[in-house]
Amino acid sequence: MSDSTTDPSLSSFLDVDANHPFPIQNLPYGVFTPPASTVPRVGVAIGDHVLDLAVLNEEGALDVPEIRDAHPFAQGTLNAFMDLGTSAWTTTRNELQRLLRADTPKLRDDTSLRERVLHPRTDVSLQLPVDIGDYTDFYSSKQHARNVGTMFRGPENALKDNWVHLPVGYHGRASSVILSGQDVQRPCGQTRPDADEPPIYGPSQLLDFELETGFFVGDGNDLGSPIPIDEASDHIFGMVLVNDWSARDIQGWEYEPLGPFLGKSFATTISPWVVPMEALEPFRTDGPSQDPEPLDYLQADGDAAYDITLEVGLQTPSMADPHTVCRTNFRYLYWTMRQQLAHHTVNGCNVRPGDLLASGTISGPTEDSYGSMLELSWRGEEPVSLPGDERRSFLNDGDRVVMRGYAQGDGYRIGFGTAEGTVRPAPCA
Ligand code: CA
Repeated sequence: MSDSTTDPSLSSFLDVDANHPFPIQNLPYGVFTPPASTVPRVGVAIGDHVLDLAVLNEEGALDVPEIRDAHPFAQGTLNAFMDLGTSAWTTTRNELQRLLRADTPKLRDDTSLRERVLHPRTDVSLQLPVDIGDYTDFYSSKQHARNVGTMFRGPENALKDNWVHLPVGYHGRASSVILSGQDVQRPCGQTRPDADEPPIYGPSQLLDFELETGFFVGDGNDLGSPIPIDEASDHIFGMVLVNDWSARDIQGWEYEPLGPFLGKSFATTISPWVVPMEALEPFRTDGPSQDPEPLDYLQADGDAAYDITLEVGLQTPSMADPHTVCRTNFRYLYWTMRQQLAHHTVNGCNVRPGDLLASGTISGPTEDSYGSMLELSWRGEEPVSLPGDERRSFLNDGDRVVMRGYAQGDGYRIGFGTAEGTVRPAPCA
């Protein structure tokens, strides 16, 4: 894989600050509608602008043979582009970078073309970038699994026997995956707050966030043909931030014996810009050592973790800005994305372009690196202190949750933007 596209010395003719999430080394993909149009199309974020790939391609300004006649950008989702596979992704990325470089005059000096293809990001409306056919959520942070297991089963039984042998996961609900910025309605449902009394119906009292990342499947596999772990990376298009909102009280009553259901399926927020895996190449690193050694189908050479700083900010209605309640790192994940994908398909299950596979809550080793309120407040026993003498064990109506992520390079930053949402009151309240 070429790493020229991640050269720290690359710069664009567009001004981009060193701490900006979207420098020329990043070029994340999204779907947007420009001002004065109602037709969504594919773009990339560069600095404070969005580059319209549909118009660029239409005008013959993109020198990418794989996409010239396929028109994958004149679409309201990324699925068609994802389906083209790694060679098309690489060629497109190289060409976009060439066009945006400070020393390429083609777009830089063509005022008319620039006006048609470059929009201030604040002028466009973003939408869900992918038609997500299936959403799977893993449980791949050992620290998170251990924390939750300790709370509910005690430290001796914190991890079930299977956890260190396979990436535990469940099939989530794709229909309720929403774009960052959309409000989240507190769910109503059945809970049993008192174990000696019958269950009740009402608003969830234990609403939580889960700090996760997710990856989108590029080209998929045929039913019956697993993706070998050595080929898994070729099927991974890019990553987003994920907030897998959770109603702990609904979850706690419903989940046995089949696992998460309505306590999870009311909303899952993702960030709007899909960061290509190539942009994250320089940040590959080793993850936690895996002991016991996984079975052969889960083994592959090379580092497969990434050094990505992740943060959660919580803003109550009385606060002016979000307060950071969690800071952790993607590299703490025990199971890698390629292990998740190899495991997901080992039984012959097919994945398709645009499927979303999320990491599970990413918790680090320290108490300020836990990725959910359940862990940060230790099941409500130690409420989280906020500025202005406020405390929270779980989320109140009006609370806003803002997740951020970035990989820090030498003089530039590969940012994910934000995955944020504000809690609205339950309709049954
Ligand atoms: Ca989750």
